[in-house]
Amino acid sequence: MLRLTGNPEERNFLKEVIQGSGQNLLECLQCGKCSGSCPITSDSVQGPRHLIAMILSGMKQQSLQDPTWWYCVSCGSCASRCPVEINMYQVATSLCEMAEKNGIKPSEPAIHLFEEVFLKSIRKNGRVQELKAVMEYNLRRLSPFKDAAKGAKLMLKGAINPKDMVGRAKSDPEILRIFKRVEQMRHGE
Ligand code: SF4
Ligand code: SF4
Repeated sequence: MLRLTGNPEERNFLKEVIQGSGQNLLECLQCGKCSGSCPITSDSVQGPRHLIAMILSGMKQQSLQDPTWWYCVSCGSCASRCPVEINMYQVATSLCEMAEKNGIKPSEPAIHLFEEVFLKSIRKNGRVQELKAVMEYNLRRLSPFKDAAKGAKLMLKGAINPKDMVGRAKSDPEILRIFKRVEQMRHGE
């Protein structure tokens, strides 16, 4: 179902999202089943149906700044209920790459920072070192003691290991290979 009547740049945006995500958004019926089952849709996050409507209308800037794809937790509810099997997670990934290329600042900087710290920890240690990762995240958010009380409780219960603070786990060659491959794919290699 082609809705786009805009200029060439708007048409290109729709084409880029379809090609990048592998999801044929032109088939979207705007039935809203995706948003109805999406756990992140709320008063402030309008959800997948609305985001697709913006993409179909060629609203590039608004779509790349929309919080829906930042909040997407890849749960797959939208794809499992969609009558034409559109998977919003794939669309969200594609929009994220496009936003980065277009120099658009994250609409949710805290989520972006958490992702960065999380992935850095995996790359360096072969797994997430929770304690270090949360401390770095809170430090960079300028609230270093935010989770101190919760952290102490988790340590007492043995859920996190204070030894993580000293020494460093070995980086895993297989994990490094995956990161390298992702970098190559991002540069079209
Ligand atoms: S459920 Fe599928 S067809 Fe319906 S609005 Fe969402 S993406 Fe479009
Ligand atoms: S995959 Fe993302 S967009 Fe789809 S239902 Fe889950 S959170 Fe919502």
